[in-house]
Amino acid sequence: MENLIRPGEVVQLSPRVRRLTAPNPGMMTGPGTNSYIIGTDELTMIDPGPEIESHIAALLSVVGGSLRRILTTHTHFDHSPAARAVKAATGAEVLGMPAPPQSNQDGQFAPDRVPRHGEVIACGDFSLRAVHTPGHASNHLCYLLLEDRLLFTGDHVMQGSTVVITPPDGDMGAYLRSLEELLTLDINCIAPGHGHLIDKPHDEARRLIAHRLKREQKVVEGLAAKHPATLDELVAVVYADTPLKLHGAAKRSLYAHLLKLEADGRAVCEREYWRLNPAITK
Ligand SMILES: [Zn+2]
Repeated sequence: MENLIRPGEVVQLSPRVRRLTAPNPGMMTGPGTNSYIIGTDELTMIDPGPEIESHIAALLSVVGGSLRRILTTHTHFDHSPAARAVKAATGAEVLGMPAPPQSNQDGQFAPDRVPRHGEVIACGDFSLRAVHTPGHASNHLCYLLLEDRLLFTGDHVMQGSTVVITPPDGDMGAYLRSLEELLTLDINCIAPGHGHLIDKPHDEARRLIAHRLKREQKVVEGLAAKHPATLDELVAVVYADTPLKLHGAAKRSLYAHLLKLEADGRAVCEREYWRLNPAITK
């Protein structure tokens, strides 16, 4: 079992992987955003993190003059903004997908190159395969360190907290498909964007899928018991097991579930009222 995660502390996770956590702990970020530095000679960084001066200084002191590339998993403000300062200081190439237009994301993020799904990025004495995993964000990428069978999951899979799916950029149907995608990968460990390493990654992906489908079933039961219903009426029923202070976030998840059910043809929405699709009997 790993010790507590402390911001600013460099932790050697394997001979070629180090973790440095940013000082931005919180309800959505757990102990803070994990930045990963891979390599011993020619270095690659995954998720430089938020634009916090002390964190950027710590990253630069770890990489010295050896950083060749910066990869981002997505463009939420706790993951990509520090790429600008790190690139300016090191000249490293930046890879990732830009923020969608009109989103409340890091719109200034300007990658030198956008990796293709499945592309293998040669990084000196190791390789990273880009895996497009929309769901938490439409532009979300995971990176598989082939030599270690270690998957950097950003916010696709987090340790210690639940991934938030916020429409319209967040998409529950896409998220579940992207979790299924993990089951097709030869991996033995997950390095998440928040929290500790996760063993048995396929078990974890299956657990997450089951958890979401169980919640989806509660949404269906909630609609069956009380419809037509608004989001506010439904959240109290479907998230009765969740503390009230989390109902704001729960409402966004509920909305994501409802949109998936609508896309699946199982629910319909008229104005703000949701009901089960009357054409479906079960
Ligand atoms: Zn995050």
